Amino acid sequence: AYAVRLESVSKVYGSGKNQVRALDDVTAGFRRGTFTAVMGPSGSGKSTFLNCTAGLDRPTSGRIMLGDVELSGRSETELTEVRRDRIGFVFQAYNLLAALTVADNVTLPVRLAEQPVDPERLSSVLAAVGLSEHRDRRPSQLSGGQQQRVAIARALVNQPDLVCADEPTGALDSHNGRKVLALLRRIVDDLGQTVLMVTHDPVAAAQADTVMFLADGRLAGELTRPAAEQIAE
Ligand code: ADP
Ligand code: ADP
Repeated sequence: AYAVRLESVSKVYGSGKNQVRALDDVTAGFRRGTFTAVMGPSGSGKSTFLNCTAGLDRPTSGRIMLGDVELSGRSETELTEVRRDRIGFVFQAYNLLAALTVADNVTLPVRLAEQPVDPERLSSVLAAVGLSEHRDRRPSQLSGGQQQRVAIARALVNQPDLVCADEPTGALDSHNGRKVLALLRRIVDDLGQTVLMVTHDPVAAAQADTVMFLADGRLAGELTRPAAEQIAE
């Protein structure tokens, strides 16, 4: 079963001679419980791809199905709800709230959805990312790698259908980067999560099951379980 499918998705920005075709007839599917890396040169459409797939941006044409929910044609309000309830986001810059504890950052999506916080669910996601001991700390008291693991816990707390990660290791040194990648790998293998990650880093992409290459808004190739040396942009 597919967590998400794109059918002939195109995205055009601007109009007239300023028109840019950021995505050009992309068809792709991501099975549940798989880890996919998206690579490609700057301007190839990676962010547009991730943003359309995650319902942050709307394609100009084509269909996007998140499980059996069609994203295309939904209102902004509906897309906000789908993102909040079904998609977890991890960003390069962590995007944690400095004033909140680890536990309160992690449970923020639950509270935004006006749901009660389940203490067992909180304990289990904190344990999954190895931060049970740090639940009452503030982000400034943690390393970059630990902060990114808080962001991953926050992305998981609503048991999303899809986790979207945009350059999750971009701000980390190689040691912390490796720990974050191992964690993303583990949430796929142990929790059955589906992860879609945009990255420039071949070492990061080598953790994925599949590496998808974009060039000029088109799918330009795919590698399955590649070694880092096989991945070049
Ligand atoms: P990447 O993430 O691979 O660098 P992007 O998806 O950001 O690529 O961009 C793909 C193309 O779309 C580029 O030519 C970029 O300039 C253009 N583009 C992206 N966002 C916008 C926008 N909001 N308005 C106009 N053009 C855009
Ligand atoms: P960029 O790719 O330009 O560096 P980001 O990856 O930080 O930007 O964010 C991409 C988009 O996602 C932005 O429009 C931002 O407002 C939005 N965004 C950031 N965090 C969330 C979130 N938790 N839920 C929904 N949208 C978000």
